[in-house]
Amino acid sequence: MRLFTKCKNCNNEINFRNDCSTRVELEMQKGENISLDCNHCYQKQDYLVNKIYTKPSKILRLSGPLIFLIGTPILGIWMYYNIPKEAFFHFKTGLLFGLLGVPLAVSQILRNRDRLRVNSFNNYYS
Ligand SMILES: [Zn+2]
Repeated sequence: MRLFTKCKNCNNEINFRNDCSTRVELEMQKGENISLDCNHCYQKQDYLVNKIYTKPSKILRLSGPLIFLIGTPILGIWMYYNIPKEAFFHFKTGLLFGLLGVPLAVSQILRNRDRLRVNSFNNYYS
């Protein structure tokens, strides 16, 4: 995931990629201090694992509403062509509206999983 820390020199946000999901893993892999280059002032400094944090995924934050906005009409059109017309009269209206809620549920699940990922990394203090 993408990890962040603030540069000790210029306060610019430094970001780097790592496959660790918790600070404990990060510490085991890199040690207590991680040496990072600032891409703003070009200073190399050591950063404590505790000073490194992660943030919610921007892509997921944007894709949530997008899944809803695109998924709902697609599902609506799919239902229109694939569910026999007479079935609409037999279906309970609630069930149809329930189906339309699926894209919203998917985007919620994705966002909750992302929040969990962020919390499980950021909540650990050694
Ligand atoms: Zn800097």
